[in-house]
Amino acid sequence: MKYLILFCALLAIPAQALELNGSFKQGGLVVGQVEPGAQVQLNGEAIEVAANGAFVIGFARDAKPSATLTVITGGKTDFQKLTIAKQNYKIQRIDGLPSRKVTPNPADVARIKADNAQIWKVRVSMNADTRFLSGFQWPVTGPISGVFGSQRILNGKPKSPHNGVDIAAPRGSTIVTPADGVVALVHQDMFYTGKTVMIDHGMGLTTVYAHMDDVSVIEGQVLIQGDSIGTVGKTGRATGPHLHWGMTWKSTHLDPMLAAGPMSKAEAKQ
Ligand SMILES: [Zn+2]
Repeated sequence: MKYLILFCALLAIPAQALELNGSFKQGGLVVGQVEPGAQVQLNGEAIEVAANGAFVIGFARDAKPSATLTVITGGKTDFQKLTIAKQNYKIQRIDGLPSRKVTPNPADVARIKADNAQIWKVRVSMNADTRFLSGFQWPVTGPISGVFGSQRILNGKPKSPHNGVDIAAPRGSTIVTPADGVVALVHQDMFYTGKTVMIDHGMGLTTVYAHMDDVSVIEGQVLIQGDSIGTVGKTGRATGPHLHWGMTWKSTHLDPMLAAGPMSKAEAKQ
């Protein structure tokens, strides 16, 4: 009998070797764990795995309904089919924005390009930290004034989908880091995002905080979940004080709301 139990336990090992936690939806973030040294592929593409076996994957706004995760351990290859739930995206119209913030002039376009170059440099950088293992909370609470993925029509002009979540909060409200991380960028005046902070959570997962009133961190600063990074404002392209919170896994925009989980009713009404 003892042998039988041992045998069953051994059989169970391959299933235990891969652990996935997160949101299997379009825009969802999933944190994975494999045996240290294992290789991981998503849809045939290699995924960076930390020394402790932790890794991150994410599903784009328009991700296909299924994906394949491959784990290669000591010459053995396992396939896991993932089912990705579809999201329904809304159309959001915002009017009354200064026309220059919707149709920038050539000098603005140059500035936007320079801003984007800095943002994308952070997004595509890869460090082997696994600070994301702290999990995610809301950086500030309040009514959600813009959801991830919505098709935006600004002053009547169709624009690219909203790639973050907007949380309305009074100017000066404290913003905290939703997870452990390192401050990867501080910019005092980006064209669209105004005072901007980016945080690197490791393994290609970064977050961005836009339209801030005040920034209280510096680049390279190590943050623990809940540390203050500054305050809510309306700098850059904003019609009122709110935090635009974005999350990106390498070049894929994710929905931060799925990572943070639902706000309580009281928090969402503040
Ligand atoms: Zn936004």
